[in-house]
Amino acid sequence: MSNLREDKKVIHSPRIGVLALQGDFAAHADALREAGAEPLLVRAPEALVLAGPESLDGLILPGGESTTFLKFLERDRLLGALASFVREKPVFGTCAGCILLAHKVTHPAQQSLDAMDIDVERNAYGRQIDSAVVEVETKLPGPPLEMVYIRAPRISRAGPAVEVLAERDGFPVLVRQGNRLASTFHPELSLDRRVHRLFVDIVAANVQQ
Ligand code: GLN
Repeated sequence: MSNLREDKKVIHSPRIGVLALQGDFAAHADALREAGAEPLLVRAPEALVLAGPESLDGLILPGGESTTFLKFLERDRLLGALASFVREKPVFGTCAGCILLAHKVTHPAQQSLDAMDIDVERNAYGRQIDSAVVEVETKLPGPPLEMVYIRAPRISRAGPAVEVLAERDGFPVLVRQGNRLASTFHPELSLDRRVHRLFVDIVAANVQQ
């Protein structure tokens, strides 16, 4: 007699934190759930411990306003824990989150975590065209991807270790460097879950190592 359970692989869903200080963290939590992960909202440095049963397997830094993010990160004593976390574990930054992960930020300059070899120019598209919904070819399998841009930054430089997974108007908009992923758009606001699935796959592969 075959036991159905034996045919299924028993894999625990990756536990992925979403920084929940401001911005659209709830939409990311939903998207992660749909992509097969267990989302956990992160509001305190204790949530970012690097080892032990409570530790997270990865983290999303959502969109919002990166200057406000930095203020809240300092207020809530999260900056140090976050800096350590992004060096050790998979992270995905969207929009303001992408700005936080950058090596260098311009327009205006501000502090960042230097977790990816990218330079980012804030609010780079000008007032009229900074918010838009467009469909763009990507290196992900499947058709062009809907991308929602809201006061989007521009990745003005991507270093040699950075893989560009999609471009808009000649500039990278979805990039990967090892276990780190960043987008200047908001994949959590579209129904297509390919980008979150990619991140969940990165996290799951890292857990197995
Ligand atoms: N314009 C914001 C910033 O500079 C980012 C916008 C967003 O996350 N949607 O931080």
